[in-house]
Amino acid sequence: METLKNKITQEGKVLSDTVLKVDAFLNHQIDAELMLEIGEEFAKRFKDAGITKILTLESSGIAPSVMTALKMGVPTVFARKRKSLTLIDHLYSAEVRSYTKQETNEISISKEYISSNDTVLVIDDFLANGQAALGLMDIVSQAGATLAGFGIVIEKGFQEGGDELRKRGIRIESLANIASLTDGEVMFKEEVAR
Ligand code: 5GP
Repeated sequence: METLKNKITQEGKVLSDTVLKVDAFLNHQIDAELMLEIGEEFAKRFKDAGITKILTLESSGIAPSVMTALKMGVPTVFARKRKSLTLIDHLYSAEVRSYTKQETNEISISKEYISSNDTVLVIDDFLANGQAALGLMDIVSQAGATLAGFGIVIEKGFQEGGDELRKRGIRIESLANIASLTDGEVMFKEEVAR
């Protein structure tokens, strides 16, 4: 997605050879116009997938998920990283090791908001080693729901998460795929032909 790639080039900050900071439009300040375009693009790519629910992880997945949900006319639900005391017995939970924070979180979703009748599109801001994706997949499978695939805003294609999921036959749609962050420069992979 050209507008996203331009935004990354202009406003993203390469913190190291592996970490990109996008606080200017996605992870702290949010560019609502760009989020809407992202939502339209995911909605277009998954329009024939029979999606009934969008699943994400708080907090940075929420903005693109809400816009996608708006465009697809379905609800979105975000997994919480801290347990709500009132919901303790009615949760699907999974462990997720955070790439950027180097800590493990137990993520959870109320059983009320995902069921075996759902076809789920999982959306997240980044795909790196795939830990968040595996945790969300675990929750989808505990609920007996169908996984339609992943909508990823920024994939770091030089880390193994995306390839491992694709090898398992899982559909991944990334709007920007980064080939490398070496020497402080963002290099994109060519968009996969579809
Ligand atoms: P994974 O679980 O795929 O290893 O990492 C995905 C999660 O880690 C994303 O939800 C995102 O919050 C965070 N993350 C991974 N790499 C980056 C990065 O380069 N920049 C930022 N801002 N977040 C990242």
